[in-house]
Amino acid sequence: MEFDTLAVHAGSHIDPATRAVTSPIHLSTTFERAADLSFPGGHNYIRSGNPNRAALEECLTLLEGGAATAAFSSGQAATASVFQALRPGDHVVAPLDAYYGTPKLLREVFSPWGLEASFVDMTNLDEVRKAVRPNTKLIWVETPSNPVIRVTDIAGVAEIAQRAKAHLACDNTWATPMLQRPFDLGADLVMHSTTKYLGGHSDLQGGAIVTKKQDEMFKRIRLVQVEGGAVPSPFDCWLLLRGIRSLPHRMRGHCENARRVAEYLASHRAVEVVHYPGLSTHVGHSIAQRQMKDFGGMLSFQVHGGRAEAVALTERLALFTRATSLGGPESLIEHRASVEGPTTRTPESLLRVSVGLEHPEDLIADLRNALGSR
Ligand SMILES: *Cc1c(COP(=O)(O)O)cnc(C)c1O
Repeated sequence: MEFDTLAVHAGSHIDPATRAVTSPIHLSTTFERAADLSFPGGHNYIRSGNPNRAALEECLTLLEGGAATAAFSSGQAATASVFQALRPGDHVVAPLDAYYGTPKLLREVFSPWGLEASFVDMTNLDEVRKAVRPNTKLIWVETPSNPVIRVTDIAGVAEIAQRAKAHLACDNTWATPMLQRPFDLGADLVMHSTTKYLGGHSDLQGGAIVTKKQDEMFKRIRLVQVEGGAVPSPFDCWLLLRGIRSLPHRMRGHCENARRVAEYLASHRAVEVVHYPGLSTHVGHSIAQRQMKDFGGMLSFQVHGGRAEAVALTERLALFTRATSLGGPESLIEHRASVEGPTTRTPESLLRVSVGLEHPEDLIADLRNALGSR
């Protein structure tokens, strides 16, 4: 079945009680037990599982082509569950360029807890190989990465992980299963901040871990989900499933608009460099071409004039909202370095853009107005 069809139908079922085409939201925290003490509805308590979460997990499993999914209340809770599934003394290889919350969890929460971590340039496979130790149990990749938009060769890292008998987890938030298939490239786990493109409307928070196979590692992730309890509400699961049904069409719009905006920015002399994997000048372009169906809706660019000029530019924009996050219908622009704080590695002249679903000519006109004529 084609991805578009799957996105519309996966996890969506006619309600058996009412024949409603759109599924109801089940707010009940508890489910009746039969006289023989079984649970004929398949659920017993909201945290352990409930109809809306089951539908969402079924959908994500099918979209990624995995074996099972654990849904969480945020992307960070999903990421943390993978680290919590490891044991003190285990070692993780993680990327230097990543969503800043991922290394923050490793350094500030899981290092005191006994997890060891090395941070490497994931685009350099030799560096990844050298970072592997006898106790390496997990390699984490994020591609395209945040905020410098690096592209990691997932299949290349998968080979290294396999040889090390370590799990490979891929943060697939930016690409979504529509554009990138980490399981086909050798990943064992896929992580999502569903707050972004999967939700798609900037109105819900969530996360997910999809597993390629039902193994010991996923059993522990499920344990952390159910007993740790960082689970999404039935309403959030319902909203997310609703958002996913239009994912393929939204992603096509994001990709087309981002390509147009990236090309415009690259042609402007006030712009020093544009980071977008769809540009042939991008260092990761050929890998992205190989492992992605299209190049996504995220880009960043650096302006001449450093921090002052970058911030001033955002003041002159009318259509792009100064805000964090990504993946919604509205275009957002963000000075990442000031969000990430004093330890940031992000250049001060860099602005990250989540290209929305407005008409690309309007977005380009707004940028032209803010940058000045070239
Ligand atoms: C937003 C984001 C996260 C964190 O997800 P939350 O839902 O904010 O907890 C992780 N990885 C990437 C790539 C993200 O964009």
